[in-house]
Amino acid sequence: MTAGEHPRYWNAEVETLSRDGLRQLQERKLADAVRRAQACGFYRRKFAEAGAAPADIRTLDDLARLPLTTKDDLRRSQSEHPPYGDYLAVPKTSVLGIYASSGSTGEPTTALATAEDHAAWAERGARFFWAFGVRPHDIAQNMYNFQLFAGAWAVHLGMQRVGCAVITMGVGNSERQLQVMQRYGTTFTGMTPSYAFHLAAVAQQMGIDIRRDLRLKRMIVSGEPGASAPAVREKIEALWGAKVYDWPGMQEALGWSGSCEAQTGTHVAEDHFILEVLDPETRRAVGPGETGVAVLTQLENHAQPLLRWWTDDYVVYSTDYCPCGRTARRLPFGILGRADDMLKISGVRVWPSGIEATLKELPGFGGEFRIVKDRTTVQENSGALVKLKLRVECGDAVDREPFAAAVAARVKAKFNVTPIVELVGERSLARFEHKTKRVVDERQ
Ligand SMILES: [Zn+2]
Repeated sequence: MTAGEHPRYWNAEVETLSRDGLRQLQERKLADAVRRAQACGFYRRKFAEAGAAPADIRTLDDLARLPLTTKDDLRRSQSEHPPYGDYLAVPKTSVLGIYASSGSTGEPTTALATAEDHAAWAERGARFFWAFGVRPHDIAQNMYNFQLFAGAWAVHLGMQRVGCAVITMGVGNSERQLQVMQRYGTTFTGMTPSYAFHLAAVAQQMGIDIRRDLRLKRMIVSGEPGASAPAVREKIEALWGAKVYDWPGMQEALGWSGSCEAQTGTHVAEDHFILEVLDPETRRAVGPGETGVAVLTQLENHAQPLLRWWTDDYVVYSTDYCPCGRTARRLPFGILGRADDMLKISGVRVWPSGIEATLKELPGFGGEFRIVKDRTTVQENSGALVKLKLRVECGDAVDREPFAAAVAARVKAKFNVTPIVELVGERSLARFEHKTKRVVDERQ
C-alpha cells in the first residue's frame, strides 16, 4: 500500500485469519454467547428440555448438544410473552431499535437491537461493501424498504461505516429515485433483484440511458434469492452497466455472508456466526458441496441471542481457496432458496429463484413469470405438487411456439421436471417494488 491508497481488507485481522485461529476465536466467543443466552427464560427452558448444561459447551463439536432454535419457537415465545418474547437478554432500556419481519410466511416476529448489535451490523456491512470495492468517496443510495425492515437499516449503517455519503431513499417512487441518482451522481446502490429490473424499465420509459446517463458502479442486490445466480447477476449487470454483489441475510442474522471482489459467491462472517449446514431430514451435518439448511449460532447478538438458529435457507458451502485471500468459508451460490419457497415436485427440489435464473438465460423471456398451483398441478387429497406449471412472459416479437418449447427443454435439463408452459404477453404480470410473489395458488 502506498500513501493515499486504501488497504485491501476492511478488517484484515479476521478476514485473513488462519482456520485454526478462527476456530479458537469462535470457541472463545461461543462461551460468551451461551452465557448471554442463559440470561433469558427462553434458553434456560430450552437447555433444560434438551438436558444440555451450558457449562459443557466449550468447543464447536459441543454445539450439536444444544437444541435448534426455529422461527416457530420465536413466534410461540412472542405470543406467550408479548410483544418481545422471553428471549430478550438485556434490560429494555438498552434497546435502541425495534424492527419486525414482514410476516409474509406467518405471524411477524419482532427484532430488537442494542448499540452493540447496530455496531455489528455496521461492521459486517462495511466489511462486505469494502470487499467488493466500495470506498469512502462513494455516493450511496439505499432503496430498501425502511418500514420496520431491519435489513434496510443494516445497509444504511454499513454504507455510513465505510464512510460513504448516504442518500436514504427507501423503496418505490421510481422516477424520483432516478432523478436523485442523476442529480447526486450515485455510484453505489442497494435494492432487491426485482426492483433492479423494475427501475431499469422505468428509466427506459423516462428516456434515461442508465448505462450512459448515470454514474453507478456497484450495486448490492439482495433481499430476495437470485443475486448470486450468475444468470440473474449478469442480466442486471448488463442492464445497468454496474457490478452486482450479494449480501444475503434475514432479520435474525443480518448480512451473515457477503460477496467479495472475486464474485465467487459469498463469504461467511465467521467471527460473528458459527455456520453449520444440516440435512433437513436427518439434521446431521453435510459436507462441502452438499445441499443443506444453514444453521447459525450468533456470536455478536446482544439483545436477542440466538443459538443454532434454523435459518430455513438452503445453501452449499465450500472450503476452497478464494483468490481474494479471505479465509472464511464460502457459499458458492449464495442462498439457493428458502425452505418456505421450496417446491417439491415428484421428489425434486425446485426454487422460484432457480426457475428465474433459468428463464433469464433464454432470449425472448419477457422478464416475469409465475408458478401456478391449480387443480391440474396439485393432488387434491395430499395437497402435493405433482406438476410444474409455469406462466411465462414472452417478448412481443418472439415466436411463441419455439419459445415455449425452449422453456420446457431448459427447465427439464436443469431440474429434471417437464413443465407445462403457459405464455402470456410482455409486462402482463404484476411487478412488485419490494419482494415478488412468484407462486400463485388458483385453487378455489
Ligand atoms: Zn473471496
